[in-house]
Amino acid sequence: MAERLGMLGLPLDANSSHRAGCAGGPAAIRGALFSTSGNAATEAGVEVVGLLDDLGDLDLANEPASVDDADRITTEIQRHIERGRRLIALGGDHSVTFPILRAHAMAGSPPTVVQVDAHPDLYDDLDGNPLSHASPFARALEAGAVSRLVQLGIRTANPHQREQADRWGVTMVSPRDLAGFDVGGVRGPIYLTIDLDGLDPSTAPGVSHHEPGGLTMREVLDVIDALPGPIVGADVVELNPTRDVVDMTAMVAAKLVKEIAGVMLR
Ligand code: MN
Ligand code: MN
Repeated sequence: MAERLGMLGLPLDANSSHRAGCAGGPAAIRGALFSTSGNAATEAGVEVVGLLDDLGDLDLANEPASVDDADRITTEIQRHIERGRRLIALGGDHSVTFPILRAHAMAGSPPTVVQVDAHPDLYDDLDGNPLSHASPFARALEAGAVSRLVQLGIRTANPHQREQADRWGVTMVSPRDLAGFDVGGVRGPIYLTIDLDGLDPSTAPGVSHHEPGGLTMREVLDVIDALPGPIVGADVVELNPTRDVVDMTAMVAAKLVKEIAGVMLR
């Protein structure tokens, strides 16, 4: 029987540093993914939507710095890893990725993480919330939950975050340098995390933090297609439907889910 993937919503926005709204992300992505506006096929012609089992949303308290919510995410992801089921998680703010990576590390070897983002999310501390969406990769690196971190599209790295990147040996690639970076040369197993603000706000306006000068949709699709695999899991995070314009960012996110699924099942 052909492998099927799980799709799990993580409706969390309490760890956002700027504004709420990402908790509505999973519902908006599903709305676009299952809309009759498009079809079920990837660009490579594989009908993947029917190969995604929608596992619904995880029940979360959605309170700031909630250790319980983080533990609940880790436990749920571990449960699926133990069954050999690979997942695409729908955010939710980017804080969800640390507990997901922790589950992968606890289940075996920490993956190489490929992150598409405007921001490094490496703050040692922002606003006194260790589980902030500005810190998931600092927490994951400290926990030994990442074997290598490759960040693509970064354009907001301040001196503190550059220091953190140096400390952990993070590969940080700006939009300007993306064309010269060999995504295919990254060694797997890979966990892929896409923060939608890595894309340019003209393509993905439905995010809390607009950071102009970002990646094109085609560049991100090319990154996904170039990933060597195996891809052990993925997430698409930071969709804020309250900021979206005619659902265009939801559609961007849904297309990314399709193309990621296609590459995971390739
Ligand atoms: Mn970001
Ligand atoms: Mn992020």
